[in-house]
Amino acid sequence: MVTMLKQALFRVFRKLETKHHELNYLFWECTTRCNLNCRHCGSDCSKDSFYKDMPLDDFLKALDTIESPSEHFTVVLTGGEPLLRKDIELCGREIRKRGMRWSMVSNGYLYNNEKHISLLNAGLGALTISIDGLESSHNWLRNNDKSFERVDIAIGLAASSSRLNFDVVTCVNKRNFQELEEIRTYLIQKGVKAWRLFTIVPIGRAKEDDEMFLTDHQFRELMDFISESRTRKDIDVKFSCEGFVGEYESKVRDSNFFCRAGINIGSILIDGSISACPNIDRTFSQGNIYKDNFFSVWQTKYELFRDRSWTKTGKCTECKDYKNCQGNGFHYWHGEKKNVLVCHNERLKKTTNC
Ligand code: SF4
Ligand code: SF4
Repeated sequence: MVTMLKQALFRVFRKLETKHHELNYLFWECTTRCNLNCRHCGSDCSKDSFYKDMPLDDFLKALDTIESPSEHFTVVLTGGEPLLRKDIELCGREIRKRGMRWSMVSNGYLYNNEKHISLLNAGLGALTISIDGLESSHNWLRNNDKSFERVDIAIGLAASSSRLNFDVVTCVNKRNFQELEEIRTYLIQKGVKAWRLFTIVPIGRAKEDDEMFLTDHQFRELMDFISESRTRKDIDVKFSCEGFVGEYESKVRDSNFFCRAGINIGSILIDGSISACPNIDRTFSQGNIYKDNFFSVWQTKYELFRDRSWTKTGKCTECKDYKNCQGNGFHYWHGEKKNVLVCHNERLKKTTNC
């Protein structure tokens, strides 16, 4: 009864947030060049990207269309690997000049002491670094023997800064699944305060690789691991925003599932496309900064994100949890979009009483 009431209240909150659609996070895919070649990468990033990095001025012109950004508004530099841009500090400074915050998502490979200091001096406020296991499983996933050694340095530096809002993300797969407790201990020893876990979307180069994907039983164990970890208070562990997890909804995150793509999260992609979360299907683009006013697009378009009734198709058609889930994370709709790619709730139901 209490749970149902909480869910009903949350739906009211979600409706109000959707109506208001305040832009809080703007992801900028500032490069699609990357110095690694990860097995799980669903993007087209590579060492020799098809696209040139977006010139800073082009991005700033779009940024300057935003009228009265909220005090929480943050530009998140993502890629590819943002640290491959030689002008990354200049990008940060220009964003700060406008009174806005900026943050970055990085694989940590190029994050050394000198970079750490120069980024802090350029006003970096938050940083997310990904680590996908202990040494052997991380290097396997990253396809690079030095990758763990480098990310270990990056994590140590970032965790040592009291100015940075820093978290670590891990994509959980069959190889690192048995290491979760050890990774947790490692992160605590490094001084990391927040750890987000996510699973892989079956698209791109990961799709054919069975080792990338947890079994349904392992997925339930992952939920148990996260909920149990949250009762210990030594590190803030949470499941990413990626999907609705039924019976675990109140146990694995700070709040109920809410895919904020197109509601509070926008993005400007490498070719100028205006979208929501950077990892969603690119056919969802709402315009392009090279021909449209970014903020006007944000204010007046995004219908598919703000009215998700179109997701009531395929397995979601008859789902009794639809009103709480609304078709799972937007990034699970690809291709013809006739069915959601993954239903976490279904996976959990399959393993009830096991
Ligand atoms: S069937 Fe669709 S709406 Fe229902 S829980 Fe699964 S993804 Fe969500
Ligand atoms: S699209 Fe996916 S990753 Fe992005 S906000 Fe929605 S659930 Fe989260």
